[in-house]
Amino acid sequence: MKIESVTPSEQSLSGLGVSGGVAIGPAYVIESGTAQVPDYVVAPEGLEDERRRFADAAAKARRQIKSLKAKALVLPEAAAEEIGFLLDAHLAMLTSSRLTRGVERRIREDRQNAEAAIQAEIAVIAHGFQEMDDAYLAARIADVREVGARLIRNLMDREYQAFSMLPPGVVIIAEELSPAETALLDPSVVAGIATVMGGAQGHTAIMARALGIPAVLGVHGLMPGTHNGDPVIVDGRNGKVILNPTEATRVATYVVQHHLTQEREQLKSLRSLPAVTLDGTPMTLLANLELPREIETARESGANGVGLFRTEFMFMNREDLPDEDEQYALLRTVVEGMPDKVVTIRTLDIGGDKLAGALDERFLATANPALGLRAVRLSQREPKLLETQLAAMLRAGVHGSTRILLPLITTVAEVRWVRDMLTEVAGRLKRNGVPIADPLPPLGIMIEVPGAALTADALAACSDFLAIGTNDLTQYTLAIDRGDEQVAHLYDPLHPAVLRLIQFTTQAALRARIPVSVCGEIAGDPRFTALLLGLGVRELSMTPNKLALVKRRIRALDLRSATRRAQSIMDQSDSARIAELLDEFNESET
Ligand code: PEP
Ligand code: MG
Repeated sequence: MKIESVTPSEQSLSGLGVSGGVAIGPAYVIESGTAQVPDYVVAPEGLEDERRRFADAAAKARRQIKSLKAKALVLPEAAAEEIGFLLDAHLAMLTSSRLTRGVERRIREDRQNAEAAIQAEIAVIAHGFQEMDDAYLAARIADVREVGARLIRNLMDREYQAFSMLPPGVVIIAEELSPAETALLDPSVVAGIATVMGGAQGHTAIMARALGIPAVLGVHGLMPGTHNGDPVIVDGRNGKVILNPTEATRVATYVVQHHLTQEREQLKSLRSLPAVTLDGTPMTLLANLELPREIETARESGANGVGLFRTEFMFMNREDLPDEDEQYALLRTVVEGMPDKVVTIRTLDIGGDKLAGALDERFLATANPALGLRAVRLSQREPKLLETQLAAMLRAGVHGSTRILLPLITTVAEVRWVRDMLTEVAGRLKRNGVPIADPLPPLGIMIEVPGAALTADALAACSDFLAIGTNDLTQYTLAIDRGDEQVAHLYDPLHPAVLRLIQFTTQAALRARIPVSVCGEIAGDPRFTALLLGLGVRELSMTPNKLALVKRRIRALDLRSATRRAQSIMDQSDSARIAELLDEFNESET
Protein backbone atom coordinates (compact mmCIF):
# COMPACT_ATOMS: atom_id res chain seq x y z
CA MET A 1 0.00 0.00 0.00
CA LYS A 2 1.27 3.42 -0.87
CA ILE A 3 1.09 5.94 1.99
CA GLU A 4 0.90 9.55 0.87
CA SER A 5 1.80 12.29 3.26
CA VAL A 6 -0.76 15.07 3.29
CA THR A 7 0.67 18.56 3.36
CA PRO A 8 -1.72 20.93 5.13
CA SER A 9 -2.84 23.69 2.83
CA GLU A 10 -2.13 27.37 3.34
CA GLN A 11 -4.71 29.20 5.43
CA SER A 12 -4.96 32.94 5.85
CA LEU A 13 -6.62 34.47 8.93
CA SER A 14 -7.27 38.10 9.81
CA GLY A 15 -6.90 40.03 13.03
CA LEU A 16 -5.61 43.35 14.31
CA GLY A 17 -2.08 44.15 13.25
CA VAL A 18 -0.83 45.77 16.46
CA SER A 19 2.92 45.62 16.08
CA GLY A 20 4.54 46.09 12.68
CA GLY A 21 7.02 43.87 10.95
CA VAL A 22 6.69 40.41 9.50
CA ALA A 23 7.71 37.18 11.23
CA ILE A 24 7.98 33.65 9.98
CA GLY A 25 8.70 30.66 12.17
CA PRO A 26 7.39 27.49 13.76
CA ALA A 27 4.27 27.86 15.93
CA TYR A 28 4.64 27.53 19.67
CA VAL A 29 1.12 26.96 20.91
CA ILE A 30 0.35 27.99 24.46
CA GLU A 31 -2.77 26.26 25.68
CA SER A 32 -4.87 28.68 27.67
CA GLY A 33 -4.45 28.46 31.39
CA THR A 34 -1.07 26.81 31.15
CA ALA A 35 2.08 28.65 31.98
CA GLN A 36 5.52 27.41 31.15
CA VAL A 37 6.63 25.49 34.21
CA PRO A 38 9.68 23.40 34.95
CA ASP A 39 9.06 19.73 34.20
CA TYR A 40 11.47 17.11 35.54
CA VAL A 41 11.70 13.71 37.20
CA VAL A 42 12.36 13.87 40.94
CA ALA A 43 15.06 11.58 42.32
CA PRO A 44 13.63 8.97 44.76
CA GLU A 45 15.47 10.54 47.70
CA GLY A 46 13.98 13.96 46.83
CA LEU A 47 10.34 12.82 46.85
CA GLU A 48 9.68 13.71 50.48
CA ASP A 49 11.03 17.24 49.94
CA GLU A 50 8.93 17.63 46.80
CA ARG A 51 5.81 16.54 48.65
CA ARG A 52 6.60 19.08 51.38
CA ARG A 53 7.16 21.82 48.77
CA PHE A 54 3.67 21.16 47.47
CA ALA A 55 2.16 21.05 50.97
CA ASP A 56 3.81 24.41 51.80
CA ALA A 57 2.54 25.98 48.58
CA ALA A 58 -1.00 24.76 49.34
CA ALA A 59 -0.80 26.09 52.93
CA LYS A 60 0.37 29.46 51.63
CA ALA A 61 -2.47 29.52 49.08
CA ARG A 62 -4.98 28.84 51.88
CA ARG A 63 -3.55 31.73 53.91
CA GLN A 64 -3.74 34.02 50.87
CA ILE A 65 -7.36 33.10 50.21
CA LYS A 66 -8.35 33.57 53.85
CA SER A 67 -6.84 37.02 53.82
CA LEU A 68 -8.76 37.78 50.61
CA LYS A 69 -11.92 36.65 52.33
CA ALA A 70 -11.27 38.95 55.26
CA LYS A 71 -10.85 41.88 52.86
CA ALA A 72 -14.09 41.01 51.06
CA LEU A 73 -16.01 41.55 54.29
CA VAL A 74 -15.92 45.31 53.80
CA LEU A 75 -17.83 44.97 50.53
CA PRO A 76 -21.58 45.45 50.24
CA GLU A 77 -23.35 42.39 51.58
CA ALA A 78 -24.36 40.80 48.26
CA ALA A 79 -20.89 41.17 46.76
CA ALA A 80 -19.20 39.92 49.93
CA GLU A 81 -21.44 36.87 49.91
CA GLU A 82 -20.77 36.12 46.25
CA ILE A 83 -17.00 36.46 46.65
CA GLY A 84 -17.18 34.50 49.89
CA PHE A 85 -18.74 31.52 48.09
CA LEU A 86 -16.14 31.66 45.37
CA LEU A 87 -13.24 31.80 47.80
CA ASP A 88 -14.73 28.98 49.87
CA ALA A 89 -14.77 26.88 46.71
CA HIS A 90 -11.09 27.74 46.16
CA LEU A 91 -10.30 26.80 49.76
CA ALA A 92 -12.08 23.47 49.33
CA MET A 93 -9.96 22.73 46.27
CA LEU A 94 -6.86 23.20 48.38
CA THR A 95 -7.89 20.86 51.18
CA SER A 96 -7.75 17.14 50.50
CA SER A 97 -9.52 17.56 47.19
CA ARG A 98 -9.28 15.66 43.96
CA LEU A 99 -6.69 18.23 42.88
CA THR A 100 -4.42 17.88 45.91
CA ARG A 101 -4.76 14.09 46.00
CA GLY A 102 -4.03 13.87 42.27
CA VAL A 103 -0.94 16.05 42.57
CA GLU A 104 0.34 14.08 45.57
CA ARG A 105 -0.15 10.84 43.65
CA ARG A 106 1.73 12.17 40.62
CA ILE A 107 4.64 13.25 42.83
CA ARG A 108 4.69 9.95 44.70
CA GLU A 109 4.07 7.49 41.86
CA ASP A 110 5.19 9.29 38.69
CA ARG A 111 7.98 11.23 40.43
CA GLN A 112 6.80 14.40 38.69
CA ASN A 113 7.91 17.73 40.15
CA ALA A 114 5.08 19.64 41.86
CA GLU A 115 4.60 22.35 39.21
CA ALA A 116 4.31 19.87 36.35
CA ALA A 117 2.10 17.60 38.47
CA ILE A 118 -0.32 20.48 39.16
CA GLN A 119 -0.48 21.41 35.52
CA ALA A 120 -1.11 17.81 34.42
CA GLU A 121 -3.81 17.29 37.05
CA ILE A 122 -5.55 20.56 36.18
CA ALA A 123 -5.62 19.55 32.51
CA VAL A 124 -7.35 16.25 33.38
CA ILE A 125 -9.88 17.92 35.71
CA ALA A 126 -10.61 20.68 33.20
CA HIS A 127 -11.20 18.09 30.51
CA GLY A 128 -13.73 16.32 32.74
CA PHE A 129 -15.55 19.61 33.42
CA GLN A 130 -15.76 20.43 29.74
CA GLU A 131 -17.68 17.24 29.13
CA MET A 132 -20.38 18.23 31.62
CA ASP A 133 -23.76 19.33 30.42
CA ASP A 134 -24.24 21.73 33.27
CA ALA A 135 -23.15 25.21 32.15
CA TYR A 136 -22.57 26.34 35.74
CA LEU A 137 -20.23 23.46 36.49
CA ALA A 138 -18.49 23.81 33.12
CA ALA A 139 -17.74 27.44 33.97
CA ARG A 140 -15.93 26.33 37.16
CA ILE A 141 -12.94 25.35 35.01
CA ALA A 142 -11.75 28.91 35.40
CA ASP A 143 -11.71 28.47 39.19
CA VAL A 144 -9.74 25.25 39.01
CA ARG A 145 -7.22 26.95 36.75
CA GLU A 146 -6.99 29.94 39.06
CA VAL A 147 -6.24 27.73 42.03
CA GLY A 148 -3.64 25.85 39.97
CA ALA A 149 -2.00 29.10 38.87
CA ARG A 150 -1.85 30.31 42.49
CA LEU A 151 -0.21 27.06 43.58
CA ILE A 152 2.33 27.27 40.78
CA ARG A 153 3.13 30.90 41.60
CA ASN A 154 3.65 29.98 45.23
CA LEU A 155 5.88 27.07 44.28
CA MET A 156 7.98 29.10 41.93
CA ASP A 157 8.15 31.77 44.57
CA ARG A 158 9.28 34.92 42.81
CA GLU A 159 11.07 33.32 39.92
CA TYR A 160 8.59 33.61 37.09
CA GLN A 161 10.08 31.26 34.51
CA ALA A 162 7.39 31.61 31.88
CA PHE A 163 8.72 31.57 28.34
CA SER A 164 12.30 31.16 29.47
CA MET A 165 12.58 27.82 27.69
CA LEU A 166 11.29 28.68 24.26
CA PRO A 167 13.18 27.46 21.20
CA PRO A 168 14.57 30.41 19.22
CA GLY A 169 12.62 31.85 16.29
CA VAL A 170 9.17 30.67 17.39
CA VAL A 171 5.87 32.38 16.73
CA ILE A 172 3.73 32.33 19.88
CA ILE A 173 0.15 31.27 19.32
CA ALA A 174 -2.17 31.73 22.29
CA GLU A 175 -5.74 32.37 23.28
CA GLU A 176 -4.58 35.46 25.15
CA LEU A 177 -1.32 36.91 26.50
CA SER A 178 -1.44 39.23 29.49
CA PRO A 179 0.74 42.37 29.52
CA ALA A 180 2.79 40.76 32.30
CA GLU A 181 3.42 37.62 30.21
CA THR A 182 4.32 39.68 27.18
CA ALA A 183 6.87 41.58 29.26
CA LEU A 184 8.70 38.28 29.78
CA LEU A 185 9.23 37.65 26.07
CA ASP A 186 12.71 37.94 24.70
CA PRO A 187 12.62 39.55 21.23
CA SER A 188 15.79 37.70 20.26
CA VAL A 189 13.92 34.41 20.80
CA VAL A 190 10.30 35.16 19.90
CA ALA A 191 9.82 36.03 16.23
CA GLY A 192 6.13 36.89 16.37
CA ILE A 193 2.88 36.73 18.33
CA ALA A 194 -0.67 35.85 17.30
CA THR A 195 -3.55 35.61 19.76
CA VAL A 196 -7.30 35.16 19.66
CA MET A 197 -8.05 37.94 22.13
CA GLY A 198 -6.72 41.44 22.64
CA GLY A 199 -7.24 44.94 21.24
CA ALA A 200 -4.82 47.26 19.50
CA GLN A 201 -4.41 49.69 22.41
CA GLY A 202 -4.27 47.24 25.33
CA HIS A 203 -1.00 46.90 27.19
CA THR A 204 -0.19 43.56 25.53
CA ALA A 205 -0.15 45.37 22.18
CA ILE A 206 1.86 48.24 23.64
CA MET A 207 4.39 45.81 25.08
CA ALA A 208 4.72 43.93 21.76
CA ARG A 209 5.41 47.23 20.00
CA ALA A 210 7.94 48.21 22.66
CA LEU A 211 9.79 44.94 22.22
CA GLY A 212 9.57 45.24 18.42
CA ILE A 213 7.91 41.83 18.06
CA PRO A 214 5.49 41.61 15.09
CA ALA A 215 2.05 40.85 16.51
CA VAL A 216 -1.49 40.22 15.36
CA LEU A 217 -4.19 40.04 18.04
CA GLY A 218 -7.90 39.26 17.88
CA VAL A 219 -7.50 36.44 15.32
CA HIS A 220 -10.63 34.31 15.27
CA GLY A 221 -10.20 30.66 14.37
CA LEU A 222 -6.52 30.68 15.31
CA MET A 223 -6.37 28.09 18.03
CA PRO A 224 -8.03 24.93 16.77
CA GLY A 225 -6.14 24.88 13.48
CA THR A 226 -2.61 25.52 14.72
CA HIS A 227 -0.26 22.89 16.09
CA ASN A 228 3.17 23.12 17.61
CA GLY A 229 5.82 23.35 14.92
CA ASP A 230 3.43 24.37 12.10
CA PRO A 231 5.06 27.07 9.98
CA VAL A 232 3.33 30.44 10.55
CA ILE A 233 3.68 33.93 9.14
CA VAL A 234 2.60 36.88 11.26
CA ASP A 235 2.24 40.13 9.35
CA GLY A 236 1.81 42.89 11.92
CA ARG A 237 1.42 45.55 9.21
CA ASN A 238 -1.88 44.32 7.86
CA GLY A 239 -3.10 41.95 10.57
CA LYS A 240 -2.66 38.74 8.57
CA VAL A 241 -1.70 35.36 10.00
CA ILE A 242 -0.85 32.69 7.43
CA LEU A 243 -0.77 29.08 8.59
CA ASN A 244 1.23 26.52 6.64
CA PRO A 245 2.35 28.98 3.93
CA THR A 246 3.27 27.64 0.50
CA GLU A 247 6.83 27.93 -0.78
CA ALA A 248 5.82 30.94 -2.91
CA THR A 249 4.30 32.76 0.10
CA ARG A 250 7.40 32.10 2.17
CA VAL A 251 9.71 33.48 -0.51
CA ALA A 252 7.51 36.58 -0.83
CA THR A 253 7.71 37.01 2.96
CA TYR A 254 11.51 36.85 2.96
CA VAL A 255 11.54 39.58 0.30
CA VAL A 256 9.27 41.81 2.43
CA GLN A 257 11.46 41.17 5.49
CA HIS A 258 14.50 42.22 3.49
CA HIS A 259 12.81 45.50 2.42
CA LEU A 260 11.75 46.23 5.98
CA THR A 261 15.31 45.72 7.23
CA GLN A 262 16.58 48.11 4.56
CA GLU A 263 13.97 50.71 5.54
CA ARG A 264 14.97 50.41 9.21
CA GLU A 265 18.60 50.97 8.25
CA GLN A 266 17.67 54.08 6.27
CA LEU A 267 15.68 55.49 9.18
CA LYS A 268 18.72 55.14 11.41
CA SER A 269 20.34 58.00 9.50
CA LEU A 270 17.73 60.33 11.05
CA ARG A 271 18.95 59.56 14.55
CA SER A 272 21.17 62.57 15.02
CA LEU A 273 19.06 65.02 13.00
CA PRO A 274 16.80 67.46 14.85
CA ALA A 275 13.01 67.02 14.87
CA VAL A 276 12.26 70.35 13.27
CA THR A 277 9.48 71.30 10.84
CA LEU A 278 10.20 72.72 7.37
CA ASP A 279 9.52 76.20 8.71
CA GLY A 280 11.96 75.76 11.57
CA THR A 281 9.84 74.91 14.64
CA PRO A 282 11.58 72.37 16.88
CA MET A 283 9.67 69.48 18.45
CA THR A 284 10.63 67.39 21.46
CA LEU A 285 10.49 63.67 20.85
CA LEU A 286 10.56 61.49 23.94
CA ALA A 287 10.51 57.76 24.61
CA ASN A 288 7.88 55.66 26.36
CA LEU A 289 9.47 52.84 28.35
CA GLU A 290 8.06 49.88 30.19
CA LEU A 291 11.16 47.95 31.16
CA PRO A 292 14.56 49.25 32.24
CA ARG A 293 16.12 47.03 29.55
CA GLU A 294 14.50 49.21 26.86
CA ILE A 295 16.74 52.13 27.78
CA GLU A 296 19.31 51.07 25.20
CA THR A 297 16.72 51.26 22.38
CA ALA A 298 15.57 54.63 23.69
CA ARG A 299 19.12 55.98 23.59
CA GLU A 300 19.73 54.59 20.11
CA SER A 301 16.50 56.15 18.85
CA GLY A 302 17.89 59.62 19.53
CA ALA A 303 15.05 60.50 21.92
CA ASN A 304 15.31 63.82 23.78
CA GLY A 305 14.47 62.01 27.01
CA VAL A 306 11.88 59.69 28.51
CA GLY A 307 8.34 61.10 28.45
CA LEU A 308 6.75 58.13 30.19
CA PHE A 309 8.31 55.35 32.22
CA ARG A 310 5.52 52.91 33.11
CA THR A 311 6.78 51.66 36.49
CA GLU A 312 4.02 49.09 36.90
CA PHE A 313 6.01 46.52 34.95
CA MET A 314 8.54 46.53 37.82
CA PHE A 315 5.75 45.06 39.95
CA MET A 316 4.70 42.29 37.60
CA ASN A 317 5.80 38.67 37.38
CA ARG A 318 6.69 38.40 41.03
CA GLU A 319 4.94 37.50 44.25
CA ASP A 320 6.50 40.18 46.41
CA LEU A 321 6.75 43.93 46.11
CA PRO A 322 10.00 45.66 45.19
CA ASP A 323 11.19 47.61 48.24
CA GLU A 324 12.50 51.19 48.16
CA ASP A 325 16.12 50.16 47.58
CA GLU A 326 15.25 47.85 44.72
CA GLN A 327 13.04 50.46 43.06
CA TYR A 328 15.73 53.07 43.54
CA ALA A 329 18.36 50.83 41.92
CA LEU A 330 16.12 50.18 38.90
CA LEU A 331 15.12 53.81 38.46
CA ARG A 332 18.71 54.87 38.83
CA THR A 333 19.73 52.65 35.87
CA VAL A 334 17.05 54.33 33.76
CA VAL A 335 18.05 57.84 34.85
CA GLU A 336 21.75 57.15 34.34
CA GLY A 337 20.94 55.50 31.01
CA MET A 338 19.72 58.87 29.72
CA PRO A 339 22.51 61.24 30.75
CA ASP A 340 21.66 64.95 30.46
CA LYS A 341 18.10 64.14 29.44
CA VAL A 342 14.88 64.28 31.38
CA VAL A 343 13.29 61.03 32.58
CA THR A 344 9.57 61.18 33.41
CA ILE A 345 8.67 58.47 35.90
CA ARG A 346 5.02 57.61 36.33
CA THR A 347 3.73 56.35 39.67
CA LEU A 348 2.08 52.98 39.76
CA ASP A 349 -0.74 52.53 37.23
CA ILE A 350 -1.72 49.02 38.24
CA GLY A 351 -5.29 47.92 37.64
CA GLY A 352 -7.43 47.58 34.53
CA ASP A 353 -5.61 45.16 32.24
CA LYS A 354 -2.34 45.45 34.17
CA LEU A 355 -2.15 43.28 37.25
CA ALA A 356 0.77 42.40 39.46
CA GLY A 357 0.99 39.17 41.43
CA ALA A 358 1.76 40.75 44.77
CA LEU A 359 -1.01 43.31 44.40
CA ASP A 360 -3.74 41.08 43.02
CA GLU A 361 -5.23 40.62 46.46
CA ARG A 362 -5.80 44.36 46.72
CA PHE A 363 -8.23 44.15 43.82
CA LEU A 364 -11.43 42.51 44.83
CA ALA A 365 -13.43 41.06 41.97
CA THR A 366 -15.11 44.00 40.34
CA ALA A 367 -17.48 44.32 37.41
CA ASN A 368 -15.62 47.19 35.74
CA PRO A 369 -11.88 46.98 36.39
CA ALA A 370 -11.16 49.95 34.11
CA LEU A 371 -13.40 52.10 36.32
CA GLY A 372 -12.26 50.57 39.57
CA LEU A 373 -9.36 50.73 41.96
CA ARG A 374 -6.77 51.69 39.36
CA ALA A 375 -3.68 53.89 39.31
CA VAL A 376 -3.75 56.86 41.72
CA ARG A 377 -6.89 55.46 43.37
CA LEU A 378 -4.94 52.40 44.46
CA SER A 379 -2.20 54.73 45.72
CA GLN A 380 -4.76 56.52 47.88
CA ARG A 381 -6.04 53.23 49.23
CA GLU A 382 -2.50 51.98 49.91
CA PRO A 383 -0.47 55.15 50.66
CA LYS A 384 2.53 53.11 51.76
CA LEU A 385 2.98 51.88 48.20
CA LEU A 386 3.13 55.43 46.89
CA GLU A 387 5.36 56.66 49.70
CA THR A 388 7.92 53.98 48.88
CA GLN A 389 7.74 54.80 45.18
CA LEU A 390 8.12 58.54 45.72
CA ALA A 391 11.10 57.96 48.01
CA ALA A 392 12.78 55.80 45.35
CA MET A 393 12.04 58.43 42.68
CA LEU A 394 13.44 61.27 44.79
CA ARG A 395 16.61 59.29 45.42
CA ALA A 396 16.97 58.39 41.72
CA GLY A 397 16.58 62.09 40.93
CA VAL A 398 20.07 62.68 42.37
CA HIS A 399 21.53 60.97 39.30
CA GLY A 400 19.92 63.09 36.60
CA SER A 401 16.97 65.18 35.60
CA THR A 402 13.63 63.61 36.51
CA ARG A 403 9.93 64.43 36.53
CA ILE A 404 7.16 62.62 38.41
CA LEU A 405 3.93 61.81 36.58
CA LEU A 406 0.59 60.76 38.12
CA PRO A 407 -1.76 58.45 36.21
CA LEU A 408 -5.56 58.61 35.90
CA ILE A 409 -5.99 61.88 37.74
CA THR A 410 -9.55 63.12 37.92
CA THR A 411 -9.52 65.77 40.65
CA VAL A 412 -7.43 68.65 41.92
CA ALA A 413 -7.60 67.07 45.38
CA GLU A 414 -5.71 63.99 44.17
CA VAL A 415 -2.86 66.14 42.87
CA ARG A 416 -2.67 68.11 46.10
CA TRP A 417 -2.70 64.92 48.13
CA VAL A 418 0.28 63.52 46.22
CA ARG A 419 2.13 66.85 46.36
CA ASP A 420 1.75 66.91 50.14
CA MET A 421 3.00 63.38 50.35
CA LEU A 422 5.97 64.23 48.12
CA THR A 423 6.93 67.13 50.41
CA GLU A 424 6.57 64.92 53.46
CA VAL A 425 8.66 62.06 52.00
CA ALA A 426 11.33 64.54 50.85
CA GLY A 427 11.45 66.05 54.36
CA ARG A 428 11.84 62.65 55.99
CA LEU A 429 14.62 61.57 53.61
CA LYS A 430 16.47 64.85 54.14
CA ARG A 431 16.23 64.56 57.93
CA ASN A 432 17.71 61.07 57.64
CA GLY A 433 20.60 62.43 55.57
CA VAL A 434 19.53 60.57 52.39
CA PRO A 435 20.52 62.48 49.24
CA ILE A 436 17.52 63.39 47.07
CA ALA A 437 16.80 65.48 43.96
CA ASP A 438 17.23 69.16 44.71
CA PRO A 439 15.06 71.04 43.78
CA LEU A 440 12.23 68.51 43.94
CA PRO A 441 11.29 67.09 40.51
CA PRO A 442 8.35 68.71 38.68
CA LEU A 443 5.06 66.92 39.45
CA GLY A 444 2.82 66.40 36.42
CA ILE A 445 -0.36 64.56 35.66
CA MET A 446 -1.80 62.37 32.94
CA ILE A 447 -4.92 63.69 31.28
CA GLU A 448 -6.69 60.51 30.32
CA VAL A 449 -10.18 60.86 31.73
CA PRO A 450 -12.72 63.13 29.99
CA GLY A 451 -13.53 64.79 33.32
CA ALA A 452 -9.87 65.69 33.75
CA ALA A 453 -9.62 67.05 30.22
CA LEU A 454 -12.70 69.21 30.76
CA THR A 455 -11.16 70.65 33.93
CA ALA A 456 -7.66 70.83 32.49
CA ASP A 457 -7.39 74.52 33.36
CA ALA A 458 -7.98 73.82 37.06
CA LEU A 459 -5.64 70.83 37.01
CA ALA A 460 -2.99 72.80 35.12
CA ALA A 461 -3.03 75.38 37.91
CA CYS A 462 -1.79 72.80 40.43
CA SER A 463 0.47 70.73 38.14
CA ASP A 464 3.91 71.37 36.70
CA PHE A 465 3.19 69.66 33.37
CA LEU A 466 0.48 67.69 31.58
CA ALA A 467 0.77 64.47 29.58
CA ILE A 468 -2.24 63.52 27.47
CA GLY A 469 -2.81 59.78 27.58
CA THR A 470 -4.89 59.34 24.46
CA ASN A 471 -5.15 55.56 24.89
CA ASP A 472 -7.31 55.90 27.98
CA LEU A 473 -8.79 59.22 26.93
CA THR A 474 -10.23 57.52 23.83
CA GLN A 475 -11.35 54.51 25.86
CA TYR A 476 -13.17 56.57 28.47
CA THR A 477 -14.58 59.18 26.09
CA LEU A 478 -16.09 56.66 23.70
CA ALA A 479 -16.80 53.90 26.26
CA ILE A 480 -14.73 51.43 24.24
CA ASP A 481 -12.53 48.92 26.04
CA ARG A 482 -9.11 49.53 24.51
CA GLY A 483 -8.11 45.88 24.93
CA ASP A 484 -11.23 44.23 23.53
CA GLU A 485 -10.92 43.05 19.95
CA GLN A 486 -14.71 42.88 19.58
CA VAL A 487 -15.06 46.64 19.72
CA ALA A 488 -11.65 47.51 18.29
CA HIS A 489 -13.27 48.83 15.10
CA LEU A 490 -15.07 51.47 17.19
CA TYR A 491 -11.95 52.66 18.99
CA ASP A 492 -11.27 55.93 17.23
CA PRO A 493 -8.93 58.68 18.45
CA LEU A 494 -10.15 60.78 15.51
CA HIS A 495 -13.62 61.02 17.01
CA PRO A 496 -14.36 64.77 17.32
CA ALA A 497 -15.02 64.36 21.05
CA VAL A 498 -11.50 63.00 21.62
CA LEU A 499 -9.93 65.70 19.45
CA ARG A 500 -11.80 68.45 21.28
CA LEU A 501 -10.55 67.14 24.61
CA ILE A 502 -6.97 67.04 23.30
CA GLN A 503 -7.33 70.59 22.00
CA PHE A 504 -8.92 71.85 25.20
CA THR A 505 -6.16 70.29 27.32
CA THR A 506 -3.38 71.60 25.11
CA GLN A 507 -4.77 75.13 25.22
CA ALA A 508 -5.19 74.97 29.00
CA ALA A 509 -1.53 73.98 29.38
CA LEU A 510 -0.36 76.68 26.98
CA ARG A 511 -2.38 79.30 28.87
CA ALA A 512 -0.93 78.10 32.18
CA ARG A 513 2.53 78.15 30.53
CA ILE A 514 3.31 74.60 31.49
CA PRO A 515 4.63 71.88 29.15
CA VAL A 516 2.13 69.48 27.59
CA SER A 517 2.87 66.27 25.75
CA VAL A 518 0.92 63.49 24.11
CA CYS A 519 2.10 60.06 25.23
CA GLY A 520 -0.67 57.74 24.00
CA GLU A 521 -0.04 55.47 21.03
CA ILE A 522 -1.11 58.09 18.47
CA ALA A 523 2.01 60.07 19.38
CA GLY A 524 4.07 57.33 17.68
CA ASP A 525 1.89 57.09 14.57
CA PRO A 526 3.02 59.46 11.78
CA ARG A 527 -0.56 59.56 10.52
CA PHE A 528 -1.47 61.77 13.51
CA THR A 529 1.65 63.94 13.64
CA ALA A 530 0.38 66.85 11.50
CA LEU A 531 -2.88 67.00 13.42
CA LEU A 532 -1.25 66.99 16.86
CA LEU A 533 1.26 69.64 15.86
CA GLY A 534 -1.53 71.65 14.27
CA LEU A 535 -3.40 71.53 17.59
CA GLY A 536 -0.42 73.09 19.36
CA VAL A 537 1.34 70.01 20.75
CA ARG A 538 5.13 70.32 20.69
CA GLU A 539 6.13 67.26 22.74
CA LEU A 540 5.42 63.71 21.68
CA SER A 541 6.34 60.62 23.66
CA MET A 542 6.26 57.22 21.98
CA THR A 543 7.72 53.76 21.81
CA PRO A 544 11.34 54.32 20.70
CA ASN A 545 10.87 52.09 17.64
CA LYS A 546 8.55 54.71 16.16
CA LEU A 547 10.64 57.77 16.81
CA ALA A 548 12.45 57.91 13.46
CA LEU A 549 9.19 57.55 11.51
CA VAL A 550 7.61 60.45 13.39
CA LYS A 551 10.74 62.54 13.02
CA ARG A 552 10.73 61.94 9.27
CA ARG A 553 7.12 63.17 9.16
CA ILE A 554 7.93 66.29 11.20
CA ARG A 555 10.88 67.19 8.99
CA ALA A 556 8.63 67.06 5.91
CA LEU A 557 5.90 69.16 7.50
CA ASP A 558 5.02 72.81 7.13
CA LEU A 559 3.61 73.82 10.51
CA ARG A 560 1.45 76.64 9.12
CA SER A 561 -0.38 74.37 6.70
CA ALA A 562 -0.66 71.68 9.39
CA THR A 563 -2.27 74.26 11.69
CA ARG A 564 -4.71 75.35 8.98
CA ARG A 565 -5.63 71.73 8.30
CA ALA A 566 -6.09 71.06 12.03
CA GLN A 567 -8.46 74.03 12.19
CA SER A 568 -10.60 72.73 9.36
CA ILE A 569 -10.58 69.29 10.96
CA MET A 570 -11.84 70.76 14.22
CA ASP A 571 -14.83 72.22 12.34
CA GLN A 572 -15.98 68.72 11.43
CA SER A 573 -18.41 66.55 13.33
CA ASP A 574 -17.93 63.24 11.55
CA SER A 575 -14.84 61.13 12.20
CA ALA A 576 -14.95 59.61 8.71
CA ARG A 577 -14.68 63.11 7.21
CA ILE A 578 -11.92 63.95 9.70
CA ALA A 579 -9.98 60.86 8.67
CA GLU A 580 -10.42 61.82 5.02
CA LEU A 581 -9.16 65.36 5.60
CA LEU A 582 -6.18 64.11 7.55
CA ASP A 583 -5.19 61.36 5.12
CA GLU A 584 -5.59 63.67 2.15
CA PHE A 585 -3.31 66.21 3.86
CA ASN A 586 -0.74 63.55 4.68
CA GLU A 587 -0.73 62.26 1.11
CA SER A 588 -0.44 65.71 -0.43
CA GLU A 589 2.56 66.43 1.75
CA THR A 590 4.54 63.31 0.93
C1 PEP B 1 -2.54 56.37 27.88
O1 PEP B 1 -3.55 56.01 28.49
O2 PEP B 1 -2.58 56.97 26.77
C2 PEP B 1 -1.20 56.12 28.44
C3 PEP B 1 -0.12 56.60 27.86
O3 PEP B 1 -1.13 55.33 29.55
P1 PEP B 1 -1.27 53.73 29.50
O4 PEP B 1 -1.26 53.31 28.05
O5 PEP B 1 -0.15 53.15 30.27
O6 PEP B 1 -2.60 53.49 30.15
MG1 MG C 1 -3.36 55.40 30.54
